[in-house]
Amino acid sequence: MKFGTKAIHAGQEPDPTTGAVMTPIYQTSTYWQESPGKHKGYAYARGKNPTRSALEKCLAALENGKHGLCFSSGMGATDAVAKLLRPGDEVITGNDLYGGTYRMFTKVFAHYGIKFHFIDLSDPANIVPYINEHTKLLWVETPTNPTMQIVDIEACAKITKQYKIIYAVDNTFASPYLQNPLDLGADIVMHSVTKYLGGHSDVIMGALITNNDDLHEQLAFIHNSCGATPGPMDSFLVLRGLKTLHLRMKAHCENGAAIAHYLKKHPKIEKVYWPGFTDHPNHEVAKKQMRDFGGMISIVLKDADLDETFRIASSFKVFTLAESLGGVESLVNHPVTMTHASIPKEQREKAGVTDNLLRLSVGVEDIDDLMEDLKMVLS
Ligand SMILES: *Cc1c(COP(=O)(O)O)cnc(C)c1O
Repeated sequence: MKFGTKAIHAGQEPDPTTGAVMTPIYQTSTYWQESPGKHKGYAYARGKNPTRSALEKCLAALENGKHGLCFSSGMGATDAVAKLLRPGDEVITGNDLYGGTYRMFTKVFAHYGIKFHFIDLSDPANIVPYINEHTKLLWVETPTNPTMQIVDIEACAKITKQYKIIYAVDNTFASPYLQNPLDLGADIVMHSVTKYLGGHSDVIMGALITNNDDLHEQLAFIHNSCGATPGPMDSFLVLRGLKTLHLRMKAHCENGAAIAHYLKKHPKIEKVYWPGFTDHPNHEVAKKQMRDFGGMISIVLKDADLDETFRIASSFKVFTLAESLGGVESLVNHPVTMTHASIPKEQREKAGVTDNLLRLSVGVEDIDDLMEDLKMVLS
């Protein structure tokens, strides 16, 4: 099946009891057992819920994976992967991670005796010097947030396979429409489903997808044991959101490209971060591993101090000043004070996240209105 068909149908059959075409919201915490232990595959809803099962199958299909697990947030999904580790283990990861991931690694899991190396992954060869007998996990995000650096997923897989390291990719920014890390050698794909997959800014959810039976078994054990599982209503909303993922992504990419090219020529803009530009340092890798370049764009304002940046960020009429991304509506975000406030200034500025940087999540509104809005705030 092709992507658009899977987005609409994968994991979903007419409901066996009524024939309902849409997967029902199975709003139940527990299930009837005919005799102790004899049930229809569902015993207690932390472990399994039919609405969630349909969604997990659909997400697995979209990532060309065998197993899917949905979590109550993206961080819940990342937390489950980190719980595969033991004290003394080491993790190699990028130096411009999503702020919440950085915070979890440094403020939670570092206290459990796990060591993290935050390095520049734009050249995968940088990984090798950090590998030792304790290295257990490579955690990659691409494109990165907010400077849209691209990590070569396949080149990293060659290294993790050689050294037998678990390899997880946060695929939130690309979505499975643009890139499928499992096909490129990753062991686990993580999503903040909150973003493009849900797509309507009305759900917080995370997911993990893998082809590896053993990893799935361990992750499913953590999922049920630790309990960061989403409810049936949220699962339903995401199933509904997914039905237009391919249509939305196409529009995000078209609007994103138009806006990126417009901003690149704008006299008030110093720099535009977007992997579709031929002069992006890893454009060739982006072209190889992504089907298009998406609607996430970061801009550096020319000669703007914090006040001027705030003034611009607050003047939009169509773009909404808010955290998050990937919804149908366009958002503008000031990473330094919003999404990336938990990253120390020094670390942040090393990654190019300066006071005058704004991140745009280009939505699927009419491009003329988005352009008009940008023209107005930058005039
Ligand atoms: C939002 C986000 C997360 C965290 O997901 P939540 O659903 O907010 O918990 C992780 N990684 C990336 C890249 C994100 O954008």
